[in-house]
Amino acid sequence: MIINIIGGGLAGSEAALSLADFGQEVNLFEMRPNVKTDVHQSGDFAELVCSNSFKSESLDNASGLLKEEGLRLGSRLLEIAYHNRVPAGKALAVDRKAFSEEVSMKLETHPLINVRREEVCSLDFDGAVNVVCTGPLTSGCFEAFLGELFGGALFFFDAVAPIVAADSVDLERAFIADRYSDNGDYVNCSLSREEYELFWNELVHAEVLEVENFSDRFLFERCQPFEEIARSGIDALRFGPMKPVGLIDPITGKEPYAVVQLRKENLSGSLLGIVGFQTRLKWREQKRILSLIPALRNVDIIRYGVMHRNTFLDSPRLLNPDLQSRNHKGLFFAGQISGLEGYVEAIVSGRLAAINADRYVRGKQTVIPPVGTMIGGLINHITVSGRSPLKPVYANFGLLPEIRMKNRREKNRKKVVVAQEKIQRFLEVII
Ligand SMILES: Cc1cc2nc3c(=O)[nH]c(=O)nc-3n(C[C@H](O)[C@H](O)[C@H](O)COP(=O)(O)OP(=O)(O)OC[C@H]3O[C@@H](n4cnc5c(N)ncnc54)[C@H](O)[C@@H]3O)c2cc1C
Repeated sequence: MIINIIGGGLAGSEAALSLADFGQEVNLFEMRPNVKTDVHQSGDFAELVCSNSFKSESLDNASGLLKEEGLRLGSRLLEIAYHNRVPAGKALAVDRKAFSEEVSMKLETHPLINVRREEVCSLDFDGAVNVVCTGPLTSGCFEAFLGELFGGALFFFDAVAPIVAADSVDLERAFIADRYSDNGDYVNCSLSREEYELFWNELVHAEVLEVENFSDRFLFERCQPFEEIARSGIDALRFGPMKPVGLIDPITGKEPYAVVQLRKENLSGSLLGIVGFQTRLKWREQKRILSLIPALRNVDIIRYGVMHRNTFLDSPRLLNPDLQSRNHKGLFFAGQISGLEGYVEAIVSGRLAAINADRYVRGKQTVIPPVGTMIGGLINHITVSGRSPLKPVYANFGLLPEIRMKNRREKNRKKVVVAQEKIQRFLEVII
C-alpha cells in the first residue's frame, strides 16, 4: 500500500522520510511552487517560514526536552538541523536555506518517495492511508474540504518579524553579546531613555495593515506583534522583546535603558532577524520605525514582517491520541494543522504520525506516547485534556504531571528525569 502525505513542510517531510525509512512507499503531495502561500518564499521542502531557531537545547527548557525526545525517537529532520546549525548561544538555529535544501535532496532522491507537486483538495478514504500535514497555511480548497468533513476548522493569526542586511547595521552603535552565555551570538542595539520614549511614541501611532478577518481575539499570545505589546504600556517592550537584563553596553559601561536584539539568519551571518519584532505595521512604517533605533538608522530590510492566517483543527473533538481521526480510520494528522505550535512540535509529531501510520499499515496496534513525556503531554493536550475549541499549544513544563516541590527549577528538573525514563520505556515498546 502507498501512504499519501499531504504537505511537505516540517511535519510532512519528517513523516515522509520516516515512513520511507520504515520501508513504506509514500506519495508526498506538495502544492508549492505551483500554488503559493502568503508566507513561504521557495518551492523547497521543510521551509522555515519565520525564525531560523529551533529554540533552546538546554534540558532546563521545555523545547530542549522535546528536541531530546525527538532525537531519541529517531527524527530525521532534527538530525538534518544539526548538520546545518549556525551559532546561536544555547539555541539550535540553522542556516535555513541549507537545511531545507538538504531535506529536499533527501526526499527527492529516496527510491520509496514519489514527490508530487500538486494541490490536494480532497481525500480518498477507500482503504487509503493519509497523513495530513498541510500546516497553518492550508490551501483554501483543502480547508473547505476539512471544514465539511469535520464541521468547521478553526483559525487564528500570527505575525512574522523583519529580516535585515547585517552590513546595514551601524556596529559603532551596537555591541555583540549574549544574555545567557559568553558566545556573543547576538547583535544588540541600545536605546537611551529619550530614544526609547520617542521610538515607543511613534510606534503606538504607526499605521498597521488591516488583515481580512483579523481580530486580536485570535492572536496567539507568544506571537503578539510588537506594536500590540507596545500598546499595553510604555514599559511593556522593556519587559518583553526589548529587555536589557544581563547586557552591558561597552560604550557606556552600563545596562542600556532598552535593547533590540538581532540574531543570525544564515551561516554567514549576512542576514539578521529582529528578535521578537513580529509585526503587522505597513511596510513603509516598518522602515520608519526601525530607523528610530540608532544602530538601525540606515537599515536595509530584506524581508518585511507580515501577518498571516493560521488554520488548525479542533482536535480534542476530532483526533485520538495516536493522531488518527476518530471517525476516519487510516487518516492521520501532524504539525500545526493538529493544533501543535512550533517547528520542533511539528517535526516530532510528524515522526509520531509516521510511526503510527506504519503500524496501522502493518496491522499493529498504534501507540500513544506517555503523558509524562513532553511529546506525550503535547499530544494529550490537543486530543484529550485541552478544551474545545482548542488553543494551539507549544512545549511547556505545565503539560507534564504536577510534582509537589516548591522550587520551580528543581521541580522542572525532576519532571525532565521522569520524562527521560518514560521515553526510554516507550522506545522499548515501539521497537
Ligand atoms: C508565518 C508563521 C511564522 C511562524 N514562525 C514560527 C517560528 O518562528 N518558530 C516556530 O517554532 N514556529 C513558527 N510558526 C509555527 C509553525 O511551527 C510553523 O508554521 C511550521 O512550519 C509548521 O509546520 P507544518 O509542517 O505543520 O506546516 P508547514 O511547514 O507550513 O508545511 C505545510 C505544507 O503543506 C503545503 N500545503 C498546504 N496546503 C496544501 C494542499 N492542499 N495540498 C498540498 N500541499 C499543501 C504547504 O505549501 C506547506 O509546504 C510559524 C507559523 C507561521 C505561519
